[in-house]
Amino acid sequence: MRESVVPSAAALTTLAGVGPALAKTLERLGLRTLQDLWFHLPLRYEDRTRITAIRDLRPGDTAQVEGCVEAIDKGFRYRPQLRVAIGDASRATLLLRFFHFNSAQANQIVVGTHLRCYGEVRHGAQGLEMVHPQYRRVTESATVEERLTPVYPVTEGLSTARLAGVIERALQRLPPDAELELIPTELRKAHKLTSLRAALEYVHRPPPDADLATLALGAHPAQQRLAFEELLAQHLSLKRLRQRVREHAAPALHGDGGLRRRFLASLPFAPTHAQTRVAAEVARDLGKPVPMLRLVQGDVGSGKTVVAALAALAAVESGAQAALMAPTELLAEQHFRNFLRWMQPLGIEVVWLAGKLKGRARSKALAQIVTSAQIVIGTHALMQEGVAFRDLALVIIDEQHRFGVHQRLALREKGRAGDRVPHQLVLTATPIPRTLAMTAYADLDVSVIDELPPGRTPVTTVAIANSRRKQVIERIRAACAGGRQVYWVCTIIEESDLLQAQAAQAVHAELTAALPGLAIGLVHGRLKPAQKQAVMDAFAAGKIALLVATTVIEVGVDVPNASLMIVENAERLGLAQLHQLRGRVGRGSVESSCVLLYQTPLSAMARQRLDVLRATNDGFRIAEKDLELRGPGEVLGTRQTGQMTLRIADLVRDAALLPWVQRAGEAFLRQYPERADKLIERWIGMATRYAGA
Ligand code: ADP
Ligand code: MG
Repeated sequence: MRESVVPSAAALTTLAGVGPALAKTLERLGLRTLQDLWFHLPLRYEDRTRITAIRDLRPGDTAQVEGCVEAIDKGFRYRPQLRVAIGDASRATLLLRFFHFNSAQANQIVVGTHLRCYGEVRHGAQGLEMVHPQYRRVTESATVEERLTPVYPVTEGLSTARLAGVIERALQRLPPDAELELIPTELRKAHKLTSLRAALEYVHRPPPDADLATLALGAHPAQQRLAFEELLAQHLSLKRLRQRVREHAAPALHGDGGLRRRFLASLPFAPTHAQTRVAAEVARDLGKPVPMLRLVQGDVGSGKTVVAALAALAAVESGAQAALMAPTELLAEQHFRNFLRWMQPLGIEVVWLAGKLKGRARSKALAQIVTSAQIVIGTHALMQEGVAFRDLALVIIDEQHRFGVHQRLALREKGRAGDRVPHQLVLTATPIPRTLAMTAYADLDVSVIDELPPGRTPVTTVAIANSRRKQVIERIRAACAGGRQVYWVCTIIEESDLLQAQAAQAVHAELTAALPGLAIGLVHGRLKPAQKQAVMDAFAAGKIALLVATTVIEVGVDVPNASLMIVENAERLGLAQLHQLRGRVGRGSVESSCVLLYQTPLSAMARQRLDVLRATNDGFRIAEKDLELRGPGEVLGTRQTGQMTLRIADLVRDAALLPWVQRAGEAFLRQYPERADKLIERWIGMATRYAGA
């Protein structure tokens, strides 16, 4: 016999009134079990606990009124319209207007009918009105609601009232606290959390005196309690992921440091203190027989590549392989050329692999990777089937936010040998605000390169309206005449390579006409790799003065003599992306500037964003602001958030909870590991279904 199902996991069809058809509709919302219903929270609340006198209504109010129909008018002036005037004891009149109605509806309403309406009040031509209010006929003695009415997220074919009924029945089956609660009493006391049962009851059925404004902000203790639990579950699941990785073995890469010393000696500069410190942290991890999972954050231009090279050399010194994966071909190619330049003099075999590598060149690369290659560099092609490594001991991933956790793990699998997995080093130029890092990256250790190489000049940033484009073009002429090189970045919202390429081509034509005699290059995602490279090489060699580009140059491109950048449609880009782009200039010792060209009119939000960039060059501050202004989804990238589907919590709104979450997380893993698993199961199980819904 099967064990009886715990209430939380019971199917919805065990609820009175839920048949297979309704269950199917509910499943579209990701609702399959009683527990799913308990955690399906209202979007907002409507106050139908009282009736407002018509005389007291103010435009903008959302209110419930009750009155007697005084006049009806069915008009057809521009479109069918039903107008109903109601009056109440306050001797004021309110007009109800309907544009969609059927004749049965219209016939129900006659002069003298008593109506109760709920809706938003606004100014109309003849005084106050409600457009399409919710309404029903009532007798004069009809009672009002005792509680605030929750409004739930619904789906087609399911009204919020019907869903509310189903949820109400599910709530009646909420088990007692002792069964439901997973957060131990002492932790609840320490963090002043209400019980889960009380929190759920409150958010689903708030009393009439509840503070709607606090609820709307998600700041009520009941909501905070739920957000806390969800964040804790997310945090614990990442911690678990990391624990599981730590249960594997990894090759201890000691090396004798010989190659690393020779490499450092060959560089034309000395590493910064920050680079040295972070490289040492990495080396210490690599020397242990457990897999490293380390994220290196460093602002644009902080020199993460040198740290990556040192890590790769530690693997090579130990006779093993390292792989470096970058999100775009342009960036991967740039790494490849850098590494060739650095490693060939040391006699190290560096191999290139990208999706576009075909035929014999590909077979040759694959053969090298499985036999002699010491360092392999490429795009996500490295993770494809058919790519086998000889002895992959270290996986380096550049620009982490472009890859999801799963892709990261996929490359790790390439180096798996029995129980042994490679070390992982993740580099990101998008500085992740601390609060986010603690949550979204709880499975990684973090090192920060918090220092730029000396001799960099800060970039001066200005925002200029597109109407002054001519002046900007003049500025380019002057800069180029003085031997400086310039980027012009074309951005359009469309993700399509083709549209972006077309936009860039148009600008290229415009600038060629406006600046005769200037060597102007064009690079975009539709060019063949060899073409792209030829243009970039010409720019790097100074043969091209002005480079028109799409955002393909966003990451990693490094031409120190380029000291002026124009970014078109800057108002449409995120702060982090603009900061990345801007990081392409200011790499040499010449004074650099960045012109953010915007279309007018500029929204207040866009103005604020551009102001942030003008005010600071500090990637961390920019990331914090970005998070504030746009939310975590945008900051982490869409792929990344797929894995952090939050139902209730909001990383920005609930940021203050995160330090508590961390502390509680530690206590959980130490003292209540079983409860931790249940908590993860409760929330992550739900989130997976929710994401697929
Ligand atoms: P990012 O952190 O943005 O990936 P890179 O690794 O591309 O930065 O480095 C940016 C530039 O700075 C490169 O030209 C690199 O050679 C140079 N660089 C790196 N470290 C130093 C240093 N310590 N001193 C001077 N230049 C450095
Ligand atoms: Mg880089």
